[in-house]
Amino acid sequence: MDPEIQKMREVVLVYLDRSGGLQKFVHDCKKYNDSKQSYAVYRFIISINPSDIAELDATLGNYILHNPLQAAQIFQSVCFVAIKTLSLIEQLQTEAQISILLKPTHLPPLPSYVLSLSTYPFNYTSQRFYMSEGIVIAMGTVTKYTQGARFLCTEETCPFSEGFRCIRVHCPGATESATVRTDFVCSLCSSPLQEDMKFRVLGDKQIVEMIDAKILNALKGYSIDNSHFRIQAFTLFLRDELANKMTIGNHYRIIGIPACVQNGLQATACIEVNSVQIYKPNGRSSVSDNFKYLLSLTSSSCWKFTAVLANIFASQVVPPGTYNTLKLAILLSLVQTSEKENADYLDLLIMTSDTVVIDRLLNYSLCLLPRGIRHPPSSDIFPSVSKDKHGTGSASIQACSAVLAKGGICYIGDLSSYKKDKLELLQSVLESRTTTVFIPGKKYGEEADQQVTVSIQTNFWSFVDVDSSSKKHIQKENFLIGQMDVSLIPVNLVDGFGLLIYNEFPSCRLSSPVVHHILKKAINPEAMLYKVSQQFRTQDYEEFILFARNLHVVLSSEAESLIQGYYLASRRVRRDSIHGSTLSASALKILISLAKAHAKLSLRQTVFEEDAVIAILLLESSLTLKHGTSALCVAPNPVFPFDLSDENSLQQRDIYLMQCHHQLLKFINAYSPGIHINSHEE
Ligand SMILES: [Zn+2]
Ligand SMILES: [Zn+2]
Repeated sequence: MDPEIQKMREVVLVYLDRSGGLQKFVHDCKKYNDSKQSYAVYRFIISINPSDIAELDATLGNYILHNPLQAAQIFQSVCFVAIKTLSLIEQLQTEAQISILLKPTHLPPLPSYVLSLSTYPFNYTSQRFYMSEGIVIAMGTVTKYTQGARFLCTEETCPFSEGFRCIRVHCPGATESATVRTDFVCSLCSSPLQEDMKFRVLGDKQIVEMIDAKILNALKGYSIDNSHFRIQAFTLFLRDELANKMTIGNHYRIIGIPACVQNGLQATACIEVNSVQIYKPNGRSSVSDNFKYLLSLTSSSCWKFTAVLANIFASQVVPPGTYNTLKLAILLSLVQTSEKENADYLDLLIMTSDTVVIDRLLNYSLCLLPRGIRHPPSSDIFPSVSKDKHGTGSASIQACSAVLAKGGICYIGDLSSYKKDKLELLQSVLESRTTTVFIPGKKYGEEADQQVTVSIQTNFWSFVDVDSSSKKHIQKENFLIGQMDVSLIPVNLVDGFGLLIYNEFPSCRLSSPVVHHILKKAINPEAMLYKVSQQFRTQDYEEFILFARNLHVVLSSEAESLIQGYYLASRRVRRDSIHGSTLSASALKILISLAKAHAKLSLRQTVFEEDAVIAILLLESSLTLKHGTSALCVAPNPVFPFDLSDENSLQQRDIYLMQCHHQLLKFINAYSPGIHINSHEE
């Protein structure tokens, strides 16, 4: 016996004793012993803290980190001796029947322990622990695999024809046929071996595909035609207790052992996962000094800061002062993104005639978020099922744009370019924020059909080309004042989008600043056309949004009653013979989401009445586009009624918005008298 191995065995025992691992091991043995059942293998999970072990004995620490499979053998023999001396499992006969899985709690935070999915070559032959991270883009159904099997020699006189001598155990990266096959021969007499099926131990297996988070950059919309590139995913094996521990679309940090799976002539690099953790981006974002200064300058009003923010936003794409309402809505939608379940959502549908400029503006805005996805028209928006590529024939759910955009934005381009069935699916997702994937059992070798519900946590952006919609369709005769012709898109789908926005320029011509901007950019694409582009750079907005979206905001009671009052009054006012009220219940959710978003965008944690006023004006103008004006007669462009050229115009806007607030209170008192709102007189 190698004295070094002998010494490591002693250290293992000391470590197990000190770390509480021995106690857990004894407990696990008791479960096996109590079951009285005899198995081919007995599987034990041992948690390893690499720093503690290295402290105890550097040789063993090094061995575990760099030779985990051989290190597991040391644990195996220690465990076997423990079981035998303490009579922990009566049925157990040989050491070969013990399968040990070492699970490191963490790895040394050094570059050589990181397996980056985006850098080649992978050192996938080294069979040691690595950490890696990425986003889950495909997920198979849970199937069975063989943890271990007992084989017997077919030659009756051979000592291996009985007992538990020939045990085959699954090892990382091995395929099913590596563990159990019919052509194994006895190592003593070379007669064929035969499996004793009674003792086979099955476990759960799930194949997951992960991509490096950097791939998302390619989907951000720099190019609309994404058909020429292929996304290289990386295969993960989740076994036993790890099956179903990952959710499609989430970002994870994993520890595992890379391996190479041979499938016919093809070899696939993959990782046998040992531990899974949800990835949390470190480092909080902050707000740039210029934004802080702007906030202090505008602190006298709850409206000025966001007005300036919207006014100068995206000056790289459109001139300051243009598309203000749309830019405000975009900013509100950007900060209303979150990875949390049941978050507030804010979807945007834009009616426009200058689709090129709008598309540019939306693509630009999308890139400000880590998960801003420009949906490529050639693929699916929602998850689909396909056959697993690893030869198992089982079903695999593929994440598509909407899932990859989890906690971000999914921009789907021109809404009228989608077929009816896709639009119906989109509508149901907008209503429920989930989609159901159907897996026919017959096709994928399962007994029963399966339905998997995938949550869709993203804001959708889309636009409709007004010109093409009015060309293709004959205008309805009985249009109400302010109403837009959206007959190209099903009414319910339009309602599904939280906000309908009509960009403020007349459809026949672009405003002259926009034309100037486009011409100048065409001559010199890199040009900084405005001073504000330097003071508030794209990355400043990026950091600002990351900061603002993480703010936790609460509704003040005043804001709440204003929203409620408006909602009830509106429901009463907006009626038609078919629907009863044209105001759907989701309108209340959208109002709250808008008001919260406006508070976040103002870097506040309390939603004030002022936020509610903006929310109501935005929603009311959206409702006007859908259904015509109501008794609360708002201006065509109620949030930015005039150009913001100087401080004086900001002040005038404040006065105007205050008048809107009072008008709103009158409206509520007239149509929803039950709601009492303390109107404060200035
Ligand atoms: Zn034999
Ligand atoms: Zn007031």
